[in-house]
Amino acid sequence: MTKKIYIDTLGCQMNKYDTERILGMLSHFGYEQTNDENDADLLIVNTCAIRQLSADKAYSRLGNWGRIKKERKKQNKSTKIAIAGCVAQLEGEELLKKFPYLDLVIGPQNIYELPSLLKETEDKRLCATKEKSAIEEKDYDIKRVKSTNAWLSIMEGCNNFCSYCVVPYTRGRERSRSIEAIIKEAKEILSKGYKEITLLGQNVDSYGKNLEGKPNFATLLKELDKLEGNFRIRFTSSYPTDITDEVIETVKNSKKICECFHIPMQSGNDRVLKAMNRRYNVSQYREIVEKIRKNIKDVTITSDFIAGFPGETEEEFLDTIKAIDELQLDYSNTAAYSPRPITKAGKMTDLFINEETKKKRLQILNDKVKSAHLKSNEKYIGRTMEILIDGIKDGVFQGRTRNNKVVHLTDDKNYEIGQFVDAKIERVSTWCCFAKSI
Ligand code: SF4
Repeated sequence: MTKKIYIDTLGCQMNKYDTERILGMLSHFGYEQTNDENDADLLIVNTCAIRQLSADKAYSRLGNWGRIKKERKKQNKSTKIAIAGCVAQLEGEELLKKFPYLDLVIGPQNIYELPSLLKETEDKRLCATKEKSAIEEKDYDIKRVKSTNAWLSIMEGCNNFCSYCVVPYTRGRERSRSIEAIIKEAKEILSKGYKEITLLGQNVDSYGKNLEGKPNFATLLKELDKLEGNFRIRFTSSYPTDITDEVIETVKNSKKICECFHIPMQSGNDRVLKAMNRRYNVSQYREIVEKIRKNIKDVTITSDFIAGFPGETEEEFLDTIKAIDELQLDYSNTAAYSPRPITKAGKMTDLFINEETKKKRLQILNDKVKSAHLKSNEKYIGRTMEILIDGIKDGVFQGRTRNNKVVHLTDDKNYEIGQFVDAKIERVSTWCCFAKSI
C-alpha cells in the first residue's frame, strides 16, 4: 500500500538536494509525496543549523507534528516523525529526549539508511548520525523539483573550520564524489530536459583531494563541459584563496560554464578575518577578484558577509562596507552573526555584540548590497545577453543571463520554459533587468 510522506526543507541548496534524494529513494519503497501534513504517514523536517532561527523553526515544526500525530492516533492512523539534516547531526540523541513523540533522528551522512531505519522504528526510536569517510553512491531516482535548473552535489563536508561555522561538525570532513559518478548524474539530468546544472560543494576548489589520482575541480569542469547539448553549468561556493588559475582559465575557455563566482568574503577587515579563521586577508581577496575580472568578460562576483561578528568594532564593520564598494561586488548574501555554541566564535561570549547593534549593522549592510546590485545591473543597459527562460509570472516571462542576472522579458512574445533567447536590456531596477528579445 502507498504511504504518504510530507517533507519540510530548511536551509541551503545542499539540503534541497538531500530532500530530492530522500523523496527519490523513498519512492522505491512505496512512499509518495503529499503537501498535506495532516495526511502524512511520515513527516520529515530536513534542518539547517547555520543560525539559531533556523533551528528554532525546526523545533516548532516538530511541536506541531506532535499534535498531528496525537490527533491521527485517535483515528487509528499511525504517523512517524523524523528529523534530518544539520540540527539532527549536531544534537543527535538529545532530540529524542526533547521530543518524546519523535521516532527518528538521521544525519546528512546517513540518508541512505533511511528505508531500513524506518522499518526499525516500528519497535524503537532511533538516532543515526554516524560520520562516513566516503560518499555513498546508490542508484535510486532523485525526485528533482520541476525547473530549468538541477542541483548536483560534487562533494560534501568541509575542512576549513571557520570559527563561526557548524558545517564541519554537521557535514563532516571533505569527501568528493568520483568524476564518473558526477558525469553519470549530469547525463541523467540532461536526459530529463534540464538546461542548467548547479554543482554544489562547501568549497568546490577542494574537489578531488580525497580521491585516487587527486583529480582537481578544473578537470571536473572540463569533463562536464564536453557533454553534448545546449546547457549551462554553474557552481557554488569558492574559497577565495583556493581558486586556481586553471579554474579561471577553464571558465574563460568553456562554452557551458557560466561566468559567475560566488566567493564568500565574510568581512572586509583583516583582524576580523583572522578571528574568523579565514585563510586570507583583504588584499589577497582583492587580488583574486581582479584576476578573475581581468580574465573573464562580464563575470559576476557575489559574496557573503556577516554583520556583528564577536568583537567587531564599528570601524571594522565599516571596512566591510568599503570593501563592497571598492571591489564592486555584484551581489552579497548577508546575515547578522548568530552564535553556534559548538564553534570557537560561539564560545567568545564576552565579545558578543548586542542584538540592536547587529540589527543596525545588518541594515546598513543590506542597503549597501542593494545599491551595489543596482550599480551592477546598470552596467548591462543597452547590452544584448543570452537569457534562459525559466518561468512566467503575471504573464511576464522571466529568465537569467549566463552571469545570473534576473531578466523580465517585456515584449508580448510567447516563449518556452527552457528556451534560450537573445534579448537587449533596456532598463534595470535593483533586483532585475527588463529586456526585449531581438
Ligand atoms: S569554508 Fe564555508 S562551510 Fe567551510 S567552515 Fe568555512 S564557512 Fe563553513
